[in-house]
Amino acid sequence: MIWNKDKETMSRADMRALQGKRLHKLVEYVYHNVPFYRDKMQQADITPDDIRSIDDITLLPFTTKQDLRDNYPFGLQAAPASEIVRIHASSGTTGKPTIVGYSRRDIDVWSECMTRCLTAYGIGRDDIFSVAYGYGLFTGGLGVHYGVENLGASVVPTSTGNTEKHIRLITDLGISGIACTPSYALHLAETMEKMGVTKSDLKLRSGAFGAEPWTENMRKEIESRLGLKAYNLYGLSEIMGPCVSYECECQNGSHINEDHFFPEIIDPNTLEPLPYGTTGELVFTTLTKTGMPLLRYRTRDLCSITDEPCPCGRTNVRMSSIIGRSDDMLIIRGINVFPSQVESVLLSIPECAPYYRIVVDRVNNLDTITVQVEIRPEQFDGEVDTLNPIFELEKKVKSHLKSVLSISPIVQIKQPGSIERVDGKTKVVTDLRNIK
Ligand code: ADP
Ligand code: ZN
Repeated sequence: MIWNKDKETMSRADMRALQGKRLHKLVEYVYHNVPFYRDKMQQADITPDDIRSIDDITLLPFTTKQDLRDNYPFGLQAAPASEIVRIHASSGTTGKPTIVGYSRRDIDVWSECMTRCLTAYGIGRDDIFSVAYGYGLFTGGLGVHYGVENLGASVVPTSTGNTEKHIRLITDLGISGIACTPSYALHLAETMEKMGVTKSDLKLRSGAFGAEPWTENMRKEIESRLGLKAYNLYGLSEIMGPCVSYECECQNGSHINEDHFFPEIIDPNTLEPLPYGTTGELVFTTLTKTGMPLLRYRTRDLCSITDEPCPCGRTNVRMSSIIGRSDDMLIIRGINVFPSQVESVLLSIPECAPYYRIVVDRVNNLDTITVQVEIRPEQFDGEVDTLNPIFELEKKVKSHLKSVLSISPIVQIKQPGSIERVDGKTKVVTDLRNIK
């Protein structure tokens, strides 16, 4: 099913024409309402009249997270306070949170886009849907919540915490859809197993997972343990929150709601636009937002975009999964390492459980990377320090990681359950080099 056939299956030419029209209006709006953008455009010697088609977007200035911080809290807001109906803050994964104000119209667009996502996940009016993202300043909870209501399915606002109660609700109410972080999905699966609940006791069939990077191997793990289809859901508070892009039944890249969020991929060093198919930094322009619209916002998320037709019939472009943020790329002895590469390797080894952490340090002026990973409970029957099989597993993990990362990590095999479980976003990497 497709929620908005008109906008999700538009011809490429019509989509670009619509984007061009919306961009022109947006630029006029921010030029007259946001001094920050007017100054930037004047410095670049451009006026709204120079922006006639979507191709002209490259004339416009970029916006960075630092700009949001410099103008904290409301400096980039375009609408007057009387028009703002909700305020969120980003989770502050990488520093001081940023504040985003939404107008009533923004909330409507958000709900519409979120409904498109849920429809693509196969959710309909008869479904009971649990929102297990945090409710609060974080956009995850309320963002998905409004989409479920707009669709007309029943929303259960479980939020995070109390996992056992949540599982009882899933079984008792026959909950068929769920949204949460991929790491929380695993935590649910694990708790379920401990409670003696099996996936055949559940009616869950569809899950929307996002807010943190995850890999194909993680998808397989979640699908097999919860007995559902696991779909990607991407978003960020500066642009809107969850709803910016979503996977369809093909599970092959996430369609972008590009009539509202115009995507570009740029080289993060030269800032030059890159063609479709090339990996670089994802940049969004909010074509229709009125609360705090942003021009060419640099997400720091790294991925590629394709406009190849998708068998589902949607014509909006798709983004690949996020390989990481440009700022969570680790440089270890000069070699670039993404946490997602480590995850991929660990989850391809049958003895490793999907719980891991990465610790980076500098010892005698040399960078070290330590990968801690839990052994699966069924492989474990003693103590981690002494057993020969543990030693063998350590060697195996190390050699697999080395062949992919081109550096030799320290590997520590941990007991089942010893790595902290989280409700929301997981902080996978601890970089001790920064605090020395
Ligand atoms: P913060 O930047 O403080 O974490 P947000 O809560 O707005 O603020 O989080 C947005 C970020 O979360 C995105 O820029 C991206 O890095 C990450 N993210 C969100 N959804 C996904 C997803 N489906 N896959 C990978 N990363 C995601
Ligand atoms: Zn598709």
